Amino acid sequence: MATTIAFIGLGNMGSPMARNLLKAGCHVKVFDLNREAARKLEADGAVAAANLKEVVAGADTVITMLPAGQHVHDVYLGPKGKPEQGLFAMVAPGTFLIDSSTIDPATAKEVAKYAEQHQLEFVDAPVSGGVAGAEAGTLTFIVGGTDSAFHRAEAVLQYVGKNIFHAGQAGDGQMAKICNNLMLAVQMAGACEALNLGVENGLDPKVLSDIMLQSSGRNWVLELYNPCPGVMENAPASKGYQPGFMSKLMLKDLGLGMDAALHSQSAVPMGTLARNLYAFHNANGNELLDFSSLFEFYQRQQK
Ligand code: NAD
Repeated sequence: MATTIAFIGLGNMGSPMARNLLKAGCHVKVFDLNREAARKLEADGAVAAANLKEVVAGADTVITMLPAGQHVHDVYLGPKGKPEQGLFAMVAPGTFLIDSSTIDPATAKEVAKYAEQHQLEFVDAPVSGGVAGAEAGTLTFIVGGTDSAFHRAEAVLQYVGKNIFHAGQAGDGQMAKICNNLMLAVQMAGACEALNLGVENGLDPKVLSDIMLQSSGRNWVLELYNPCPGVMENAPASKGYQPGFMSKLMLKDLGLGMDAALHSQSAVPMGTLARNLYAFHNANGNELLDFSSLFEFYQRQQK
C-alpha cells in the first residue's frame, strides 16, 4: 500500500475519492484552493495542507483531480515563467504522479514528458462513474502511461475504483475518456429529448423510463442518471440538479472532443450538436448545474 498520498483538488469527485483512500488505511494529505474543502476532510482523518509544497512533503504518491488542462499544467509545471511553483520543483525523487482530471491529451503528454525528464513516473488516469461511483469506490479508471507506471497505478487506484483499464501510452487515457464523454453527452441529449417528447404527449416519465430500460433505448443515463425530476430519487434531477457533473465540465469535455476531431479530421456530427446544445444551455445560466439539467432546455417554458 502507498504509505502517504497527497491529494490535490477536493471538488465533487476529489473529496469522496480522498475519503475512500482514508477508509482503505492510506495516510492522506489534502490541498485545495478552497480551504473549506480540505478542512472538511480532516474529520475523516486527512491532514489538510496550506499549499502545494506542504501537501507533497513526505508523500510517495500524488493524485490530482482538477477541473481542466490549464489547472493541471499550472499545478505540475507552475504558472508561465514560474516553474519553481509547480510540483516538479517540489516532489521528492521517486514520487509517483497520477492525474485523474479530464483534460486534453496534449497537456497530459507534456506533463508525462516533464516527468520523464525528472526521472519520475506519471500516468493520466481520468475516471468514469460520476459522484456516485466516487462515493462507492467503484470508479472506472482509464490509464495512459508505461506498463510499469500502469502497474504502479493499479496498486493505488484499486482503493477508489473497480475497473482499471490500460488505454495505452501517455495521453491515451484522456483520449479514451474524451470519446466516452462525447457518447455520454449524445445519450443524455437523446434521453432528455425522448422523455420530454413522451411527457408532452401525455406519458408518465417513470413508466416511459421503465419501458425504455427494458427496450432497445436502454442506456447508462436511463439506468443511473435519469434527467427527469422525480423519476429517480437519488439522481441530481430530483435534487434541483445540484452536481454531480457540472454542465460547464461537459461543455469542456465536448470541446476536447471537437479539438481531437479537428486533429484527426474525423466526422463528429452528433458530438458537434451536443456541444452546441450545452453551449446554449450554459449561456442561459446553467453552467454550474448538473449536466442532466439539459432536460430543462427541452421543456416548454411556463407562461
Ligand atoms: P470540481 O470543480 O467540483 O472540483 C475541482 C476542484 O479543484 C475544486 O475544489 C477547485 O477548488 C480545485 N482546484 C482548482 N484549481 C486548483 C489548484 N490550482 N490547486 C488546488 N485545487 C484546485 O470538479 P469535479 O466535478 O470534481 O471534476 C474534477 C475533474 O474530474 C474534471 O476534470 C471533470 O471533468 C472530471 N470528472 C468529473 C466527474 C463528475 O461527475 N463530477 C466525473 C468524471 C470526471
